[in-house]
Parts: sequence; structure tokens; C-alpha cells
Amino acid sequence: MTVIGLDDTDSRERGMCTTYLAARLAERVVAEGGTIDRRLLVRLNPAVEYKTRGNAALALHTDLDPDRALELAAAELEPLAETDDPRTSPGVVVAGDAPEAVPDAVADFTRRAIRELLDPAEALAVLDAAGYRHRGWEGGRGRIGALAAVGAWAALEEWTYERISYRAFERCGTPRDVDEASVFEEAERFYPDAWDTVDRVERQAVCVPNAPGPILYGIRGDEADAVSDLADRIESEPTERSATFLTNQGTDAHLADGRIGDLRDGRAYRVDGTVASDPETRRGGHVFFEFEGPAGSDARVDCVAFEPTKRFRDRVRALRVGDDLTVCGEVTDGTLKLEKFAVRALRRTAETNPTCPSCGRSMASAGRDQGYRCRDCGTSAAEPATVPLDRDLERGWYEVPPCARRHIAKPLVRGGFDAPVHPER
Ligand code: ATP
Repeated sequence: MTVIGLDDTDSRERGMCTTYLAARLAERVVAEGGTIDRRLLVRLNPAVEYKTRGNAALALHTDLDPDRALELAAAELEPLAETDDPRTSPGVVVAGDAPEAVPDAVADFTRRAIRELLDPAEALAVLDAAGYRHRGWEGGRGRIGALAAVGAWAALEEWTYERISYRAFERCGTPRDVDEASVFEEAERFYPDAWDTVDRVERQAVCVPNAPGPILYGIRGDEADAVSDLADRIESEPTERSATFLTNQGTDAHLADGRIGDLRDGRAYRVDGTVASDPETRRGGHVFFEFEGPAGSDARVDCVAFEPTKRFRDRVRALRVGDDLTVCGEVTDGTLKLEKFAVRALRRTAETNPTCPSCGRSMASAGRDQGYRCRDCGTSAAEPATVPLDRDLERGWYEVPPCARRHIAKPLVRGGFDAPVHPER
């Protein structure tokens, strides 16, 4: 068996897409008499600064001879890769191993490439130790992703599907002609086997990209048949080719269990703690709150729901000091960018000034740590009164809507969560 890994061929401005290269290379392999067993679309650490958009890397599983595979990959890549863009740094890695039998060091590299920031030198060391063939262009940073894609089948357990339909290449850069009504109708029909096709509240067909490039639409889901049936039913301009990829999208593979105080920039975590400040909406519509570790630790981290997360911010604004949560998201500059959170326990009461037992008026604070005093009667009280707090949240998981979902983040509708879920669609 042979595994071909590919990465970093596209450009943000000019638009290409490594999935397109992989789809074309797969066709070329078949034309040469090879088989394609699988196409993998692997999302790596979304915090990587070099990424063009979604930090995707691609792998093809084939029976083609490894030397021939490398030649073909280079021949397909060279005319397509946007190497005039200084940020584009393509890499190809070819392994002569069965995909499930790559060395542990390679599978481990994949797991780390999804959660950590890695160095090109490390990729080269692992490649050489494994005896893999490889080529890089313009520095060949893409070999990090290409190697991670080679190790993915052994490293990961959970897979979803994406059916990608491509435009005629000469139409790239022109507006996409996709009938939105058919997208919404079919999204409804196939939900939840296919998810994140549309955002019903924002009225957005999220399966149709905005960026230039050859993808017309990409349909994601748990069932291969569902994603390709849905894709076939969308009315649109002609599609030049389609391909189904196995992917780690929608799996939360990027999240590691973390503790407040030990969180590092450039990684994404699942963290338990307690809301330590009431949420505050700042300029730009971003909503912040402070989150603190379990009792006894005074470590805190800022959490933020950015404006593009839309209605998710209402959920965050509904939080109160004292709520126990699990929060998930990437840490950048010490701030955790929320993707989802679970309410573990809600604070149900609030403290307020007590009522005077003599006159029934509200008592005032008598000063710091001095209890309360009635201005009219002079009566004093040591403790505040407790009133019930109306809450707009329930126990369980809340998530950003489909329009703001990161590729790798797991939609709640997929299930397998440790509390009730409140899915957005
Ligand atoms: P494309 O469609 O070209 O794949 P993209 O958004 O997926 O676009 P890339 O252009 O591939 O982004 O850029 C990501 C770059 O970062 C690649 O060179 C890849 O090798 C590298 N990379 C991926 N994961 C890591 C990581 N964990 N640490 C460091 N570099 C990484």
C-alpha cells in the first residue's frame, strides 16, 4: 500500500484548494491503473498562523508504486500550486506503508499536529526516520501537514464525510450560481445525517464557500450516502467533478483537557471552572467574561464569544457569576475563544439588600463588612437577603451556530456528549 500526503498548495487571494489537487491526483492515479481506497481530508491545529483558511491536509490511500506516486503528485501539483504567493509552501510525502500500519512516531506526529504547533525540522526528522519519500517547494512547510495526513488513519478513530462538488476551473473567481432554495430544502431533508449545510437563523448556505477557489459546495455529515445524495440534489451551475472525503471535521479532535493556569497559546482545550465576572459586551459586539479554576485556585482566564458567533453570544450573556461550566475553545494571547460550553450548575439565587423588619423598606449597606442598616428605623441586619434568580439557560451543552463553526469543531447534534445538548442549526 502507498499513502500520499499533500498540503499547502493554495493562496488566500488567488484561491486554489488542496482538496482539488487531491481529487485530480486521485483521478490521475486511476487513469494509470491504480486504485484509490480512500481520500482523507484532515483538519490540523486551527491555531496555526501559516494556514490559508482551514488548515486542511490531504491523503490518498492507493496501491500505486510509491516512486510513481511521488512523480504523479509532483506533476499534478506544480501547475496548480499557487507558489507565487509567498505564503504558499507546498509539500508532498509518500509512504510505502499500509495506512493503518505507519510507525507510532508518525501517528503521534498527526495527533500533535492537530493540537500543537510543530516545527518543519521535526517533520523532516520523523519523515527520514520512517524512510518516507518527500518533496517540498518554496521551503516545503507543507510537509508538516502532508506527514500528518499520512499518519491520520492510524492516529484517529472518529471519521465523518464531506462530499465536495467542484466548479469548472475556468469559472473560478466568478460568482457561484447555486440555488439557495434547493440547498435549504435538501439540508432539511437530510438533517441530521448531514449537518452544517445551512444556518437557518442567519439564512446562510454555509456549504457554499465565499472565498475564490474551485469548490462549489461541500456537504458534511455522518453518512457517506446522505452527503452525496444531498449534494446531487442541489440545483446549481454544472459541476466539473465531485469527490467524497473521509475527514476529522466535526469531531473536536483539536480539544485537549486543560486546567486554568496551565493553558498555552496556540492550543485548544476543554476546561472546567466557574464564571468569575458577569459577561460584558465590548466594542465590536464581542462578549467577555472571566472564568476561574476550582475552589482553592485563584487562576483565571478570559473567555470571549466573538461577534461572528451571533446568537451564541446571547447564551454567553445569560451566564452569571458562580455558574459552573465546561468551556471549549482555542487560547490566543491568554484568551479562550469559545466554541461551545456546558452548563454544569447554574446559580439560582442572588443576594440583595434585606428588607427592614420594622418598616418594610429596603435596608442600605452599613459599609464594607458591616452588614445593613435601615435609614429610617436604624434597625440593622448582618446578612443580605437571598432572592431567586430567573435563568434563561438550562443544564447542558450550548454551541456556536453553523455559520461560525470551525471545521474541526463537533456539532452537538452528532451526539456523544456528557450532558443534554442544545444544538444550533
Ligand atoms: P490549503 O488548502 O492550502 O491546505 P490551509 O488553510 O489548509 O490551505 P495551508 O496553506 O495548508 O492552510 O497552511 C498550513 C501550513 O501550516 C502548512 O504548511 C502546514 O504544513 C503547516 N501546519 C499544519 N499544522 C501545523 C502544526 N500543527 N504546526 C505547525 N505547522 C503546521
